[in-house]
Amino acid sequence: MNLNAETAAVLDGKATAKQIRQEVAAGSAELHASHGVVPGLTVVLVGDDPASSIYVRNKEKAAKKCGMNSSIVSLPANTTEDAIISTVERLNADPAVHGILVQLPLPDGVDEQRVIETIHPDKDVDGFHPQNAGRLMIGIPGFVPCTPAGVIEMLKRNEIELKGKHAVVIGRSNIVGKPMALLLLREHCTVTVCHSRTKDLPGVAAQADILIAAVGRLGMVDASFIRPGAVVVDVGIHRVEDEETVRRLFGEDEKRLEAVRTKGSTVAGDVHPVDARGRAGWLTPVPGGVGPLTIAMLLKNALDAARRSVGLD
Ligand code: NDP
Repeated sequence: MNLNAETAAVLDGKATAKQIRQEVAAGSAELHASHGVVPGLTVVLVGDDPASSIYVRNKEKAAKKCGMNSSIVSLPANTTEDAIISTVERLNADPAVHGILVQLPLPDGVDEQRVIETIHPDKDVDGFHPQNAGRLMIGIPGFVPCTPAGVIEMLKRNEIELKGKHAVVIGRSNIVGKPMALLLLREHCTVTVCHSRTKDLPGVAAQADILIAAVGRLGMVDASFIRPGAVVVDVGIHRVEDEETVRRLFGEDEKRLEAVRTKGSTVAGDVHPVDARGRAGWLTPVPGGVGPLTIAMLLKNALDAARRSVGLD
């Protein structure tokens, strides 16, 4: 670990994601050749939230590029909870569908947990079903949520030493913070999990060799949170639409300012990028860090689901 870093080295999530996607494409081709099975991923989208629609289309495109069958089941926003459940049950019973993903959030009034628990655990490629969460907890194979799984892949493939390191995770959500902490524990880190009631958050974070920011607060993790030389992983995704905020986060970054002027926005994370670059040893960029890994790991989970359906590990 470089303890005197002046400019953090980039942890290139995009490059790792590309590698994983290539491996998944090769795995899909192999499965087809050996068993005549094409991995099938179906995404259920309820309503017409523009961000969700973009995510879902990106997932579908990425799956097709890896040689999978991929489809979107689009349901209107006023679909009843029971009708969503019936859709999931139909997909559970369809042997051509190996992975099911229900895009969250679901419309108000729909019990998300009930829907998630309807997905068959063997097709739960998001890893949100309690059975898969339990499997992760006790350390037996199952589907692991894609974002934290992607973070671990990226750290390992960049040969970041994990064993014995102090990892601090800011955030305790079921989809990022908690599974992240469990995965780091599995890699023999000493893990501290922080949240909104943590006292002296910067002081705790600054003890980390590996700091994971999954807090959902734009640029909150500034220099005071970062131990010099630490590995900093920024999970946050925020759209920034005004030049003043761009300057506060990035300084006079012409490319970013230009993006706001011409496209209306740029994307930033939970970590203050200029502060972190001057203090961390390694840092994930936003965009191009954790984001691409999430989709890559979804594809990997879908391939694993298809492989397991024919009795392969
Ligand atoms: P949640 O809102 O579900 O969880 C946020 C966590 O941060 C909570 O545990 C909360 O604590 C904690 N928190 C909030 N404010 C503070 C604070 N001021 N101080 C300390 N802790 C705080 O978010 P997610 O886990 O779903 O997502 C986190 C971020 O990651 C978001 O920006 C999201 O957009 C992004 N994300 C990115 C993905 C990717 O592919 N790159 C995928 C998923 C998420 P408490 O529990 O006490 O309320």
